[in-house]
Amino acid sequence: MQIIPLPAFRDNYIWVLRNDRHAVVVDPGDAEPVLRYLADEGLSLEAILVTHHHSDHVGGLPALLAASPVPVYGPARENIAGISHPVAEGGEVRLPGIDACFKVLDIPGHTAGHVGYYGEGVLFCGDTLFAAGCGRLFEGTPAQMYASLNKLAALPGDTRVYCTHEYTLSNLAFAAAVEPDNTAVIARIATSQALRAADQPTVPFLLAGEFDTNPFLRSDAPAVIRQAEAQAGHALTTPVEVFAAIREWKNRF
Ligand code: ZN
Ligand code: FE
Repeated sequence: MQIIPLPAFRDNYIWVLRNDRHAVVVDPGDAEPVLRYLADEGLSLEAILVTHHHSDHVGGLPALLAASPVPVYGPARENIAGISHPVAEGGEVRLPGIDACFKVLDIPGHTAGHVGYYGEGVLFCGDTLFAAGCGRLFEGTPAQMYASLNKLAALPGDTRVYCTHEYTLSNLAFAAAVEPDNTAVIARIATSQALRAADQPTVPFLLAGEFDTNPFLRSDAPAVIRQAEAQAGHALTTPVEVFAAIREWKNRF
């Protein structure tokens, strides 16, 4: 199985999972690049996976389903037109055409019913975990998002993470503001800048690389706690409070 990014809109990636004959797409916000890729490569669409209800992730469903009425897997707890197979924590998505199987993870926070798909050593996490960042809390609480991020962080460190946006450089600029002395962040800025200068995606990324560079997974690091308390203007006693203060600061950054 190969995994190919189709750039969409300003900074989205629609992920195509494919072999020689079949393809599965994740979060098709736009149908046009998908239909063009399938036609160019002579692939038949087997299924569609959706992580959450935002239009930049589901906008392409009507046109894709009009072209090929395939199963659409998506969050049971969100109301999305076109989903034929609602999924939730504990569920499985079997995709025999591309010889893959994914487990469903409930990861609320960005939206109330957001799900992720984990299997074959890879994770599709939509707008929950980004490279060196995390999604905005549109519908969930800080405690929910903190729990979701830590659920993902518990996956094997060699998991390749496929998020849906190219936000890495701006996330790293924020990470450097949180921890100016973090040498791992400084090094990751250099490697990410080199990738972008060569017009390469910074996604996927290795989960293990997040622990020393992603401020939203570092609520127990003394430097992060200090910055969170400075932003909040008072002492913070729990990792969730630290996470919430850093997330709040990022909204204004
Ligand atoms: Zn979103
Ligand atoms: Fe999005």
